[in-house]
Amino acid sequence: MKTSQDQPFLLQVCNLHKRFGGVYAVKDITFDVPTGIIYGILGPNGSGKTTLFNLISGVTKPDAGQVFFQGNECTAYPAHSLAKLGIARTFQNLRLFTGMTVLENVLVGGHLITPTNLWTIGFVQHSHKKIEAELYDKALQWIEWVGIQEYRDLLANQLPYGAARRLEIARALMSNPKLLLLDEPAAGMNPNEAASLSDLIRSIRDQGVTVVIIEHNVRLMVSLCDTILAIDHGEFLAIGTPNEIVRHPLVIEAYIGTSNGLAK
Ligand code: ADP
Ligand code: MG
Repeated sequence: MKTSQDQPFLLQVCNLHKRFGGVYAVKDITFDVPTGIIYGILGPNGSGKTTLFNLISGVTKPDAGQVFFQGNECTAYPAHSLAKLGIARTFQNLRLFTGMTVLENVLVGGHLITPTNLWTIGFVQHSHKKIEAELYDKALQWIEWVGIQEYRDLLANQLPYGAARRLEIARALMSNPKLLLLDEPAAGMNPNEAASLSDLIRSIRDQGVTVVIIEHNVRLMVSLCDTILAIDHGEFLAIGTPNEIVRHPLVIEAYIGTSNGLAK
């Protein structure tokens, strides 16, 4: 394995396997994500996409296989260690603190990478006050940047769905990730909201954050991704540009059933 200095790939997934009971959720999946792109993972419901993210982000331990970040192995590292390395994620089923405000939810994302638990220290020492003030400013900036400033002081459970998804993204960005994993960020959005979310994801990439996205919305994936990996039943189907993927016979068969349906 190459060192981080000469490593062309930010993320490398090598022969990952995960079984639940007798059924493979992920079977021998291998792919590499270069720095600076939007990389899509496409597949029908139940094809293993979320499990793959769970394996990469340390939520689930693989039965076999390895994950490398910047050339260094990080298989099954816990979320806080991965956050320190520069990996952040959002969840298909939102995992917000519903009894906390939007601002507080975003601040939690920053505390994943601070050296001490500032909540328990209680803002007492000057240096901690300074760090806290910086986190606060940063949280406000990300809230504005993802476009949910009007909801800043609302509880997370009072947000419209689209805003809650953007809140998860703001929280993930608080840890200064190099790699952001987005699990169906446009789920439940109308076409206008999804288009505006695409613009946000492109601007995240343009800030230097590499994005890996799982999404059901094929049109969104085709317009957004530089490269797409297609999987089905936990197994590799194809990899290529969006245009190659929507025309790939195995992908068409697995995902939609008709070539018209996919390429539209
Ligand atoms: P996708 O995100 O592509 O819809 P998932 O990764 O959620 O697919 O699921 C892949 C397969 O693994 C499905 O058959 C699902 O039922 C199964 N699965 C996922 N998580 C678990 C779990 N914690 N326990 C048992 N089976 C699971
Ligand atoms: Mg899923």
